[in-house]
Amino acid sequence: MVLRGPSDTSLLLDADDVPPVLEHNPAGRSPFLLTSDHYGRAIPGLLGDLGLPEGELTRHIAWDIGISGVAEALSRQLGAHLIAQRYSRLVIDCNRPPSAPSSIPRLSEATLIPGNEGLTRQAAEARRRAIFDPYHRRIGEAIDARLRENIPTVLVSLHSFTPVYAGVARPWHIGTLYHRDTRLPALLLEQLRREPDLVVGDNEPYAVSDATDYTIPVHGENRGLMNTGIEIRQDLIAEEAGQQQWADRLARIFGEIETALRAQG
Ligand SMILES: [Zn+2]
Repeated sequence: MVLRGPSDTSLLLDADDVPPVLEHNPAGRSPFLLTSDHYGRAIPGLLGDLGLPEGELTRHIAWDIGISGVAEALSRQLGAHLIAQRYSRLVIDCNRPPSAPSSIPRLSEATLIPGNEGLTRQAAEARRRAIFDPYHRRIGEAIDARLRENIPTVLVSLHSFTPVYAGVARPWHIGTLYHRDTRLPALLLEQLRREPDLVVGDNEPYAVSDATDYTIPVHGENRGLMNTGIEIRQDLIAEEAGQQQWADRLARIFGEIETALRAQG
C-alpha cells in the first residue's frame, strides 16, 4: 500500500500499479546482499506504453532479461536478502545518477522513447520519487540495519547484458564489474576462471563509474562495503533452466568466497 499524505508527491503510481520494491528473504543472514536494479519491466499505468510497441518493451533496452530468475534462485540458495526494482529502466534507470542524461533515456541503443521526450522537471521528479527513491532508500535502510546488528555485508549487484549490442557480438558469458573495490572482484574472477567452460569478462562488458552507475558507488563504495557487479549474458538465462543453472553455479562460487573471506577474518 502506498500512503499519500499532503507532503507525498509520488503521485505517479496508483493502486493498480505494483510497488517498485520487491524483496526476498529480508531476514536472510548471508553476508551477500543482492540487488537487482533492472529486475522488472513494469510501466506505471499513467505512462501507457511510453509510445513504444510491445516488441521494444520486452527486449533488453527495457530490463535485464533473465536476471529475475537468477536473482530469486540465488537469494533462496544463499539465504541472502534480495532487493529488486520492478519498473522498466526506460521509465527511470535505477542504476544511474538522476542527474545523468541516461537516467530517463530519450534514446536507448537505436530506439527513440517517445514517452520520454520533452519531460518537464516535475514529471522527471515524479518518476524519481515514485520509483528510484524508494528503491535506494530501502537498500540504504537494509545496510543500516545490518551494520547496526554487526552482520557482515558484501554488496552484489546483479545484471544481465545483451549478447549483441549495436551490431557487435560479445564473447563473455559472465563479467565482474567494479571500480574502487578490487577485493571481491579479484576473488570472484579467480573462482570464475576455474570454471572450464566460461569466458569471463574482467570489467567487461562495462566497468563501473560514478557517471554511469549508482548502486555500487553509492551503497557499496561510499559505505565502505566490499562489492561487485555481476553481468550474465542474456541468451544463457532467457529460460528457467539456464537461470537455475547459473544460480546453482553462483551459489557454489559465493559459498567458496564466503569461506575464503571468513578465513581472512
Ligand atoms: Zn542491468
